[in-house]
Amino acid sequence: MSVALWIIATLAVLGGCLYYRASLLVSSLALVGIFAVGSFFDIVGVVLWVLLAIVLVPLNFTPIRRGVIAKKLLGMYRKVMPEISETEKDAIDAGTTWFEGELFRGAPDWNKLHSIQKAELTAEEQAFLDGPCEEVCKMMDDWQATHELADMSPEVWQYLKDKKFFAMIIKKEFGGLEFSAYAQSRVLQKLAGVSTILASTVGVPNSLGPGELLQHYGTQEQKDHYLPRLANGDEIPCFALTSPEAGSDAGSIPDTGVICKGEWNGEEIVGIRLNFNKRYITLAPVATVLGLAFKLYDPEHLIGSKEELGITAALIPRETKGVEIGRRHFPLNVPFMNGPIKGKDVFVPLSYIIGGEKMAGKGWRMLVECLSVGRAITLPSNSAGGVKSIALATGAYSYIRRQFRLPIGKMEGVQEALARLAGNAYLMDAVTTFSTKGVDLGEKPSVISAIAKYHLTEKLRACMDDAMDVHGGKGICLGPNNYLGRGYQGVPIAITVEGANILTRNLMIYGQGAIRCHPYVLEEMLASAEHGPEALARFDKAIFGHIGFGASNFVRSLVLGLGGYRFSKAPFSDSTKRYYQQMNRFSANLALLSDVAMGVLGGELKRKQRISARLGDMLSYLYIASATLKRFEDQGRQRDDLPLLHWAMQDSLYKLQEAQLSLLDNFGAVGSTMRVVMYPFGRFVKRPSDSLDRKVAKILLQPNASRDRLGEGQFLSADGQFGYLEQTLRDVIAAEALVAKVGKAQNKRLAFMFLDKIAEEGKELGVLNDDDVALLKRTEEGRLRVINVDDFATEDLMAGKAAHEWALENAEAQAKASKKSNAA
Ligand SMILES: Cc1cc2nc3c(=O)[nH]c(=O)nc-3n(C[C@H](O)[C@H](O)[C@H](O)COP(=O)(O)OP(=O)(O)OC[C@H]3O[C@@H](n4cnc5c(N)ncnc54)[C@H](O)[C@@H]3O)c2cc1C
Repeated sequence: MSVALWIIATLAVLGGCLYYRASLLVSSLALVGIFAVGSFFDIVGVVLWVLLAIVLVPLNFTPIRRGVIAKKLLGMYRKVMPEISETEKDAIDAGTTWFEGELFRGAPDWNKLHSIQKAELTAEEQAFLDGPCEEVCKMMDDWQATHELADMSPEVWQYLKDKKFFAMIIKKEFGGLEFSAYAQSRVLQKLAGVSTILASTVGVPNSLGPGELLQHYGTQEQKDHYLPRLANGDEIPCFALTSPEAGSDAGSIPDTGVICKGEWNGEEIVGIRLNFNKRYITLAPVATVLGLAFKLYDPEHLIGSKEELGITAALIPRETKGVEIGRRHFPLNVPFMNGPIKGKDVFVPLSYIIGGEKMAGKGWRMLVECLSVGRAITLPSNSAGGVKSIALATGAYSYIRRQFRLPIGKMEGVQEALARLAGNAYLMDAVTTFSTKGVDLGEKPSVISAIAKYHLTEKLRACMDDAMDVHGGKGICLGPNNYLGRGYQGVPIAITVEGANILTRNLMIYGQGAIRCHPYVLEEMLASAEHGPEALARFDKAIFGHIGFGASNFVRSLVLGLGGYRFSKAPFSDSTKRYYQQMNRFSANLALLSDVAMGVLGGELKRKQRISARLGDMLSYLYIASATLKRFEDQGRQRDDLPLLHWAMQDSLYKLQEAQLSLLDNFGAVGSTMRVVMYPFGRFVKRPSDSLDRKVAKILLQPNASRDRLGEGQFLSADGQFGYLEQTLRDVIAAEALVAKVGKAQNKRLAFMFLDKIAEEGKELGVLNDDDVALLKRTEEGRLRVINVDDFATEDLMAGKAAHEWALENAEAQAKASKKSNAA
């Protein structure tokens, strides 16, 4: 054996051990073996054996590794890594890690993805969607609510209460519906397709709020009192955390509760004196009970030795003395109930604290825990539902609407926008379905919920822009006939609430993801914060595991980058195979880049938000792509859906690649080096092609099974705007053949307009029967309703004071006129 061959064999053995993540012992034995082969061929002499021993003995001999190397590393680690703050610790402890952890590990096990149960509705949940949910969609008049009433009608409010829409999360034993997270998501999707006011009003009490907090932390007495009343709509809750001084930085609220003695029901008791000033509080104007977050202090040590107890959550009835419910905010022409509340010297007993006195100071942890669940459900579902409905509507509209004698949806430029709508609708539904399944399996997926919240609300924003562009003036002129405008206006609400998006992307997704999902970092941090031999043993295990993990990801990135990804494991051998393989490569890259970023920047990584954001993007797109593959599998690998799947996968993986490249471009020499390792042959993922865009757009243009699956669960009854569009689309397609028939008889190519006239001419020529004529007339009516927009008298557009004054003046003028005519 030549020396060169032996070196290659040694590198192959070492690389193989690292690529397949063999244990330290197995890797050491493999190296000893290859050295023995080298000795046999007189290649390895004493010097090389001594060098090998210098490396392997300390690593494999625990007392030396732990007592010397790990101890030294621990000292260095403590100097470099910042301490975790209490709020960060709460955020980390509050959540669990699910499939996203697998994606962070550099070698995802795809069988784990596909062995997760499929999300399904119970018969009761399905009946609710088909019954009360369908009914309230029919009852809701969004134009009336947004333009005339600045509220939902009293009938809709009552129906929501009667049918327990506000009690989807409340357990049956307290009179609630106790729906799965998946079912809640489907309800919200359907409502969001009809009205943002409806979806927000139903979403909030079922998300973070008194109901959720009471079920998890309430005392039995609090549960028995409030939950049945919340379930039957006797109580309307809100939850007030945000104050003018503390928005994103909610942990710094200046609202206080001071433990003191005071009078309550004629007796002196130990209670809390509250002073607060909150804003932006959803449902506050109509709430009967306020969930309130404040900082609790005990200066007289009336309940313990601590003076500053920390953030605490309590339930305060609206009529409590000193509580002032403010007027209303006006969120972007989507006037759901939202407003400020204040409290001055409001005295309440300690029993108002959610969970009682023992939960004093534990409010932040409670909020973060509940938010990690709620954030995965409400806004992602509202966004997915909105996009599903507008995707279908935009497809139908662009077939019905003609310019240059063609449906606009047949024009390539429009198809680009349609493809984004359809591909995103497919993907967004996949993400909500998968994420809510995680919640139903008992996860508190704080990283996933941040991913879903950020990306789905951003996709909603992009899709709304596309839908508006395709609709042209039809989307711009507001009125009862405009099914897009209010949703478009309201998009920034979803972007801002439950963690404003810039912060969510730059700080939360990766900030929590890196610590939660990394197999060793959290353990290292926890071990480094403790002292003694046990802490050293924990640190030793974590740090050497970490070193091996990093080395493995380096080798995997190199091998997969050199083209090896094409041979990596995938669970299917069809056209989806390549996506799994590309994700194997990206996953190894993410794991390696994370270690490099943490190693190079240490605690600075927290402040390097743009590096953190792009690492978060990589994790997010891996998660989104996994959810998409899961949807395709769970729906029976429908061949017709392949264009949608391809589009969603290619778009996500291309964006992932671009996020990674821009990270490398902004990471100095380290980035340039990593680029050589990770992209030796440049970009390897392409964005969806024009021909794929065309195929995807086509799915939206005419009725078909894929299109039906895309809009599944949305409100499409002919009583509603979107259902009417669907009906008109079917009529237009049927009418085309009839128009062609009449054209043929007249020997000319007829424009697709004045269909009622064409109907009469066809009848006269004897080429159309009565049914044909009726269809053409109905189609013309539908077509005009779809393309026409509303117009108004000036006074109909006046609002507020001006409208009031105009009404008074008008009444006076009418009175004068009738007096005159009476006199005459
Ligand atoms: C319609 C509506 C309904 C709401 N409902 C409720 C409710 O029911 N209960 C309740 O308690 N609150 C509610 N909120 C408050 C909502 O949660 C806050 O608006 C949100 O937390 C952001 O706070 P802010 O608006 O003050 O923005 P700011 O905190 O002032 O943020 C402004 C911008 O700076 C960015 N930013 C801030 N800090 C960072 C950082 N460290 N790194 C990077 N970027 C950062 C943010 O992402 C944002 O883009 C509601 C708000 C609205 C508008």
